[in-house]
Amino acid sequence: MRRVGFFGGTFDPPHRGHLEPAQRAAEALGLDAVVFVPAGSPPHKQGEPMTSFGHRFAMTVLATQGEPGFFVSDLEAARQGPTYTIDSVPLLRRAWPAEQTFFILGSDSFVQITTWHRWAELLTLIHLVVLHRDTSWGAAMLEAVPSWVAQRVVWAKPGRTLAVPETGPRRIVMVEHPPIAAAATDLRARIRAGECVAGLVPDAVLDHIAKYRLYR
Ligand code: ATP
Repeated sequence: MRRVGFFGGTFDPPHRGHLEPAQRAAEALGLDAVVFVPAGSPPHKQGEPMTSFGHRFAMTVLATQGEPGFFVSDLEAARQGPTYTIDSVPLLRRAWPAEQTFFILGSDSFVQITTWHRWAELLTLIHLVVLHRDTSWGAAMLEAVPSWVAQRVVWAKPGRTLAVPETGPRRIVMVEHPPIAAAATDLRARIRAGECVAGLVPDAVLDHIAKYRLYR
């Protein structure tokens, strides 16, 4: 059975906190592909300054080039207005056909899921895969969402592939892995200040940022 995970984000820039947890999710669910989906116009970041789609797409391609199972989608480039996940999922499934599909997000995004456009419908459409971000996890994370949402949660243990049934309600899979303390907002500020962020951002991405003088 082919299993594909769609990983939405701004990726401004992509960093270790995206890449390593995505690998852990791929292992935990036996994913054949993880498709990074740079947002066209992220609904939660309307009005905030953002690097162009072209640069964010290029950086995400560079960040994932060493991983044969990691791909990048340009699907949201052409869309007008805020790009909602609920609208992207059917288009992504058409572009990346698979028997089982998942939407990957960080735990900080998951605790805000009820603010997403048509969020309850999204939870009936696709399984979610939640990555451990240092800011929210465990009981506090589950208390932040409605109880019927928390009841859909299953925990994926490291070193074991979790089978997720296609029957019954869509599941919410929590991937247990050591959190990686990295955030794009902080990295942009550090790059702007001339600090070294090697190890947190792939070298090829850092070269791209330097060449095009991004975040200056
Ligand atoms: P910003 O600081 O600009 O908000 P970010 O670092 O959160 O950016 P995004 O591109 O907005 O990066 O995140 C894309 C997805 O990846 C989100 O679902 C987010 O929760 C998740 N994510 C980001 N950083 C981490 C991390 N360190 N660990 C786990 N998940 C993460």
